Amino acid sequence: MNVLSRSLCSLYLLAGVILLPSLNVQAESLLLEAESFDNHGGWGLDTQFIEIMGSPYLLAHGLGRPVEDAATKVQIPVSGTYQVYVRTKDWVAQWKAKGEPPGQFQVLVNGKPLATTFGTTGAEWNWQNGGKVELAAGEMDLRLHDLTGFDGRCDAIWLTNDLSAKPPEESAQLSSWRKKQLGLPEAPEEMGPFDLVVIGGGYSGLGSAIAAARMGIKVALIQNRPVLGGNGSSEIRVWAQGLVRRGEYPHIGEIIDEITDHATKSPGTYEEFGDEKKLAVVQAEPNISLFLNHHAFKVDKDGKKITAVYAFDTRTSAVRRFSAPLFSDCTGHGTIGYLADADYDIFDGVRMGMSNMWAWEETDAPQAFPQTPWALELNMADFPYPRDFHGQWFWESGFEKDSINDLEKIRDWNLRAVYGAWNAMKNKDGAADHRNARLTWLAYIGGPRESRRLMGDVILTEEDIVSKKQFPDGMVPSTWSIDLHYPKRQYMQKYPDNPFISVAEHGEGVDKRYGYPVPYRCFYSRNLDNLFMAGRCISVTHEALGTVRVMRTCGMMGEVVGKAASVCIKHGCTPREVYESYLEQLKELARLPGVTRRDDVDGPFYVRDGDETPESNSPYVNAKSLDGIVIDDKQAKLTGTWAAGTGLKPFIEESYLYGRGGSAVFPFEVKESGRYDVRFAMGKHENRATNVPVTVVHANGEEKIVINQQETGPIKPCFLSLGTFQFEAGQKYEVKVDASNVNGNCHLDAVWLAPVK
Ligand SMILES: Cc1cc2nc3c(=O)[nH]c(=O)nc-3n(C[C@H](O)[C@H](O)[C@H](O)COP(=O)(O)OP(=O)(O)OC[C@H]3O[C@@H](n4cnc5c(N)ncnc54)[C@H](O)[C@@H]3O)c2cc1C
Repeated sequence: MNVLSRSLCSLYLLAGVILLPSLNVQAESLLLEAESFDNHGGWGLDTQFIEIMGSPYLLAHGLGRPVEDAATKVQIPVSGTYQVYVRTKDWVAQWKAKGEPPGQFQVLVNGKPLATTFGTTGAEWNWQNGGKVELAAGEMDLRLHDLTGFDGRCDAIWLTNDLSAKPPEESAQLSSWRKKQLGLPEAPEEMGPFDLVVIGGGYSGLGSAIAAARMGIKVALIQNRPVLGGNGSSEIRVWAQGLVRRGEYPHIGEIIDEITDHATKSPGTYEEFGDEKKLAVVQAEPNISLFLNHHAFKVDKDGKKITAVYAFDTRTSAVRRFSAPLFSDCTGHGTIGYLADADYDIFDGVRMGMSNMWAWEETDAPQAFPQTPWALELNMADFPYPRDFHGQWFWESGFEKDSINDLEKIRDWNLRAVYGAWNAMKNKDGAADHRNARLTWLAYIGGPRESRRLMGDVILTEEDIVSKKQFPDGMVPSTWSIDLHYPKRQYMQKYPDNPFISVAEHGEGVDKRYGYPVPYRCFYSRNLDNLFMAGRCISVTHEALGTVRVMRTCGMMGEVVGKAASVCIKHGCTPREVYESYLEQLKELARLPGVTRRDDVDGPFYVRDGDETPESNSPYVNAKSLDGIVIDDKQAKLTGTWAAGTGLKPFIEESYLYGRGGSAVFPFEVKESGRYDVRFAMGKHENRATNVPVTVVHANGEEKIVINQQETGPIKPCFLSLGTFQFEAGQKYEVKVDASNVNGNCHLDAVWLAPVK
């Protein structure tokens, strides 16, 4: 079933019929959800604050240039006088900002504006009275006409010929009123059956869904945006960090390497974030049913189990119910856990805030930017100069605000900060230097960093990480330092109560190359029996979140969760029982290459034709990722002087050695007798020797091979074959390198014995 295309083409613009008892005539009313308009024009669909204000809405985010009209056709049931209400707000009124409200727009009825200008009243969302209008029965053209390009917003329009009726303001009543007005069925559409429902399509959700699907279970992936990737999508443009394919499980991270961006900047360009690539990888999985534009908002429970998650289509409001034995909360905010009464924590101090990053360019002609008296009042010294054409991660606010309920305020404060900076650059003390500068992009979807953390059987702490505490279920390597953000003092003077620029403080103690293995027990709820979590809402403290939160690390959590879910399905067990009874099975799955799949949980493993492990982007090759025995230069017995290097990439483990005049012996034993291809790691460089004698001591004697180290190693990642030799289990062997008489630098990195099958 192609759920995506089906959801996009159904629209609900239905007439609600109310009987007026006193007049005994029928009243007609129409609720028009802005998000359900036929054509959004230049308006953006904002789904970030549904929990706060009750609905998706349209936002005129034109960076100071009015956006194209959003338009729809409406059937007016009977001719007559209609009262118009528009749900909107003056988005800067909460700060009593100066000047005209920025988010002004008109409503055009058959091309003619109503007398009211909208977006001009109320600090909170409210139904702004649009006056009365004469409407003829039949088709009507209705448009939202932006006047400013500065983030006017419209949730819905209500038309009624009951001139005394008013729409409800209270959010408690609003939701059921909307349902009635839209004529939505009481019962949701049942979806499934699924084995696992993944909520949230960022890196953690993608890792969970793809890994689970490949391990042979049926997955629903619910994402409330039109694109996948979360903070790592083109909408938010955070580049993915954190090393993958590290530590004990070198194949964990290969799935993430299939979807990861390789952006050169953060924020980079739209193209660099590869939304289409992520979508293609998901769509290539027959076991995944993808529900884009679906927002999860409610759960059903039976005791300590979630039995279903409800999500509604953010364009049509149609509600769907997804039942399954397992759920994975990858929402970032821990929303599903919260709705299901999972234990959670929110740090009660200076949290990491939310960012709306931005980009600009220098053009070859003067560019105007409107005055923004309602924005933060900034001069050039009040913010870090955006020298390299992008407003980076440190345009961040909300540190001590409520990271769930104040989120719209935090986003709007970020917008006011950026517009205030642009006012300074274009219209104040920066004007002379920025005549041709143009703001090209400002994310209206914010990048959140820290909110709810759901509690698991282990709550990982900074102390655990720094003391390198080893857990038997340590599986996901976290390689980022403990990186916490605080308001930057230098830029706090004008707005000390709501700073908008941050500084990062990086702690020591994380092994950045191999990573600290985060335990599996951080990935499931301690008080719900069937809830996994991955991403920034896992079971860690505020400080530990400082390292685990980067996206490739979040994605790897997802991979482990997806594999664990298949173990649950195979044995009919809970996530906790995977740890208690089936940990070895989970570890076996974690050791499989990411492209490995099976058709069901009892089926054989195979790799689909054409599926390939992506090349690793990391210069450091994890020796454990190579099939066979690897002897690193760290284990070699050396004579003479050797220097360590990391410049010639890739190399095995931490570094390689180079020098001349000495010797090296790589000792080894094999566990199983047999023939092995003996390979020598190369690091091509013009200063390398062309005449290095390398001797392999094997079961039948010795063989000396002279190698030219100015050539590459043709066997991936960087090896040259010295030949195939017999070795007997339990015997001692070695590969010897004699650099006493070479004509350049000798390169020593690793010897790899690959079993000949
Ligand atoms: C400005 C900034 C800079 C950063 N710098 C870096 C960096 O350089 N490198 C790095 O790797 N990380 C960085 N991070 C951190 C990183 O982006 C986050 O920690 C990470 O994205 C968390 O991944 P996630 O999958 O848990 O959540 P997200 O990426 O937030 O994905 C969650 C997804 O779930 C969706 N969702 C939420 N609720 C629902 C619901 N109810 N129903 C359906 N869908 C829902 C959301 O729309 C979102 O798409 C940065 C973050 C920010 C904001």
